[in-house]
Amino acid sequence: MKATIIWFRRDLRLEDQPLLHAALDKGNPIIPVFIWAPEEEGKWAPGAASRWWLHHSLKSLQQDLAQLGLSLIIRRQPTLNALIDIAKQANADLVLWNRCYEPQIMQRDAFVKAELQKQGIHTQNFNSSLLFEPWTIFNKKDKPFQVFTPFWKHCCGLKVPETPLLKPIKVWEYSGQIETLSIEKLELLPKIPWDIEFEEYWRPGEQGAQAHLQRSLQQVIESYSQNRDYPERRGTTELSPHLHFGELSPRFIWHAIRQTLGAGEGATSYVRQLGWREFAYHLLYHFPQTPEEPLRGHFTAFPWKMNTAFLQAWQKGQTGYPLVDAGMRQLWRTGWMHNRVRLIVSSFLVKHLLIPWQEGAKWFWDTLVDADLANNTMGWQWIAGCGADAAPYFRIFNPVAQSEKFDEKGEYIKKWVPEVRALSHPWVHQPWEAPEEVLKQAGITLGVTYPYPLVDHTQARMQALAAYATLKQNV
Ligand SMILES: Cc1cc2nc3c(=O)[nH]c(=O)nc-3n(C[C@H](O)[C@H](O)[C@H](O)COP(=O)(O)OP(=O)(O)OC[C@H]3O[C@@H](n4cnc5c(N)ncnc54)[C@H](O)[C@@H]3O)c2cc1C
Repeated sequence: MKATIIWFRRDLRLEDQPLLHAALDKGNPIIPVFIWAPEEEGKWAPGAASRWWLHHSLKSLQQDLAQLGLSLIIRRQPTLNALIDIAKQANADLVLWNRCYEPQIMQRDAFVKAELQKQGIHTQNFNSSLLFEPWTIFNKKDKPFQVFTPFWKHCCGLKVPETPLLKPIKVWEYSGQIETLSIEKLELLPKIPWDIEFEEYWRPGEQGAQAHLQRSLQQVIESYSQNRDYPERRGTTELSPHLHFGELSPRFIWHAIRQTLGAGEGATSYVRQLGWREFAYHLLYHFPQTPEEPLRGHFTAFPWKMNTAFLQAWQKGQTGYPLVDAGMRQLWRTGWMHNRVRLIVSSFLVKHLLIPWQEGAKWFWDTLVDADLANNTMGWQWIAGCGADAAPYFRIFNPVAQSEKFDEKGEYIKKWVPEVRALSHPWVHQPWEAPEEVLKQAGITLGVTYPYPLVDHTQARMQALAAYATLKQNV
């Protein structure tokens, strides 16, 4: 009797899972496998926060599979060796997986596929994480899109995403013994416990994702367009890590929204954000150099000013701009940051401090539980002005004005930057402007209890524009 291997990667779920259905159609016993081989992902192997998530998500997948009667085989070795070894031990002749779109992973997968075929092991792969795969979408000139609005208009004119697949009730398990490791042996959790607060905020795994989606449908998505820009309102779904790890599929979310909320304003505005995710994957696939290089080539000549002390102050949330610091501390403590605040902190790094966007992207990569090569690359290139459909470089966010607009009462700031908690509007947005008496009453000594601003906004803005002007001369 032959067996079928289903190779889990970033699709850690059983609902809407093409692999289970394809394996069931084949009619042979099923062997679910997860292989940890981070070196095969090169510079973009999962960062520390992603590893934390992965550990817990694998635990959850293992339990869910066990309820179906399947035991998850875990390996820590080169992917090809692991698959061949498991196939030999179990007499498997077919390996199934869902596609990833990161350049290094695609290369690895092509290699694995070719080598397995040489060994007489068949392979089949599926789309499980996108509404529109990048090679199916082109503009009228038959080129990849580089502007979001026409991209999304084009996608919305295509057929409705297919109905999600149901979780199977019964499968045929493999009854033999196959060598496996415990999830702990993958050593994904940090040795120094910086992750203590993560568990308060997150429930990795498919069940957590489903529960979170149901709550979001009732409490967030309907009023998404009014609340999404205000960090303290928690007006976005916070589903990004669940989507990244494939604990939910976008078409599952799409259908859940349409069934529950129809096509109202909140629902449409939310689905458009899923469109940005699709756009990010479209860009990564068609421009695979962009995690390291600007899409707009002339930006390679930009006169960045690397400054390690400034970079560290930004990383630690010690820039002296309360909203920037609040965002960076939320990131450190929870592994996540609100989108509006991501825009503000990233703009501050690349425009006020003139630090290369790649440095910011690396920090986010290591600290975000939703670190995602496509979305992170697009986000950083967008803010740096060097990507597709990017914000023009000369549009420089004023961190104080942004703070006054999106966190008027300073509630978000006070949550993450306790040093300025005793200040109220307008000083909570700019403590250095507060009268001496006010600071004294609030127990703040600038430069001691809370830093002076690293840079002055007006001067930094002029410096950024001057740097940009040199770039324009090179175009
Ligand atoms: C500098 C920078 C870096 C970023 N890095 C990442 C990253 O590594 N991983 C990541 O998932 N997102 C990233 N984003 C995009 C965005 O900030 C997050 O997707 C969003 O904050 C996640 O929160 P949410 O799930 O509550 O989003 P919601 O507002 O509820 O949106 C729903 C989903 O749509 C997708 N989405 C929303 N906004 C965007 C966007 N601008 N670009 C692409 N997809 C989007 C996400 O999958 C998100 O979960 C980055 C943005 C910036 C400006």
